[in-house]
Amino acid sequence: SVRVRFAPSPTGYVHIGSLRTALYNYLYARKNNGKYILRIEDTDQNRFVEGAIEGMLSSMSWAGIHHDEGAVIKGEILTEEGDYGPYVQSQRLPIYQEYIHKLLDSKDAYHCFCSKERLDEVREKQKEAGLTSKYDGHCKGLSPEEVTIKIAAGEKYVIRLKLPQNKDITFNDIVRGTVTVNTEDMDDQVLIKADGYPTYHFAVVVDDHLMGITHVIRGEEWLISTPKHIYLFEAFGWNSPQYVHLPNILNADKKKLSKRQGDVAVEDFMKKGYLPEALVNYIALVGWSPEDNQEIFSMAELEEKFSLERVSKSGGVFDVNKLNWVNSHYIKESPVERITDLAIPHLVEKGYVKAEEVEVKYDWLKDMVGVLKESISYVAEVTKKVDIFFKTEIKPEDEEAEELLKVEHMNQLLEVFLQKVEAAEEIDSDFGKRVFKEIQKETGIKGPNLFKPIRVAITGKAHGPDINMVIKVLGKQNLISRIQYVKD
Ligand code: GLU
Repeated sequence: SVRVRFAPSPTGYVHIGSLRTALYNYLYARKNNGKYILRIEDTDQNRFVEGAIEGMLSSMSWAGIHHDEGAVIKGEILTEEGDYGPYVQSQRLPIYQEYIHKLLDSKDAYHCFCSKERLDEVREKQKEAGLTSKYDGHCKGLSPEEVTIKIAAGEKYVIRLKLPQNKDITFNDIVRGTVTVNTEDMDDQVLIKADGYPTYHFAVVVDDHLMGITHVIRGEEWLISTPKHIYLFEAFGWNSPQYVHLPNILNADKKKLSKRQGDVAVEDFMKKGYLPEALVNYIALVGWSPEDNQEIFSMAELEEKFSLERVSKSGGVFDVNKLNWVNSHYIKESPVERITDLAIPHLVEKGYVKAEEVEVKYDWLKDMVGVLKESISYVAEVTKKVDIFFKTEIKPEDEEAEELLKVEHMNQLLEVFLQKVEAAEEIDSDFGKRVFKEIQKETGIKGPNLFKPIRVAITGKAHGPDINMVIKVLGKQNLISRIQYVKD
């Protein structure tokens, strides 16, 4: 049965591309009644970032991408679930030792004592000669006695893979088809580093085998490494899993998406108020397409419809506008309470409401967010649209608004409207509708001639959200003072 894994290295934030890799693995497992495993690849101690594992796990659970086995946080403690553990590579060092000895015994690996200086020199010479740099095999011929003596003398060493000469390594990628690389174009990869830790290449093969992984679904940047992995599987006498390399996620210039061009971290999107189901829905479509033109997918629909065969070979462009469209769809569909709760921290941060007032003002905040919810792309955007409810001096925002303020019947209109507001006991969401009808009857002013000037008078803007709701959210005192300000 299908067993797939997502194997992040805890080196910082979660890139949107990693979210997609995790998602595709998860979907493939769900679709095939398989298991989805989360393994932490932390053997590069120099790149380890404190808190990155916890952050990654919380991003995944926020996104609803839940794993069946692997590292989990319980309470505050990092622990794990499943029968194939440990799932954190730094806790598997004895396992790698055991397996490297098998390769040393079968002469598929060798000790290398070359200094950094020597390796630099070799590389430099190869570069000058226009050759791709690779290890020159200097230590490959050392006898077991020579190795024992050097180790006894305390010389530092790494352990390298011993590749055969001039051998084609072939594997099949489910999306890309057959890939063949000759060992002459490959390097005697380091498997165990001088600090005793395995390299990624060694640990990934041992773990994919021991964890019973059937399909490796990962980013295309690993494609050039796969022949090494295939050869290692062969050297051990193991069957290799099926491979799928996912196309890069590109920016609008068709370059690889990177932090410099804006948000790429899942955490960034989370903070701005993208909804997890929207981000998941959108990212699923960057590199995979359904058979029809469906664009809105729940997780359950993705689980049902996802297939590796429809993963594309070429890079997918990350289009923020499209993401915003998907997100605004989910925001509109969400209960107003949910969006309000997400909006409140942003409103507090920008000083529109004090943290200690949130509780008493909650219903009012909810009405206000309810008005804005129809027109925002992400929740934090409320802070850019909320000013109409907070300003004290109404000034026309643009020429259109200015023209509207000058209409002939403005004074008459404001006069009657003010009277009605002053007379009202409660300004509810029907107030506007009711009062506009009355004014129309009494004055003959109607339609846009009626509500457009009122909108400008109370917000300074010619366009905006539903005027009845704006009137309700502003409330009696605000309306009175705004009308008076404009009249004077
Ligand atoms: N640890 C690797 C990464 O951070 C995983 C590569 C793989 O899936 O084999 O991307």
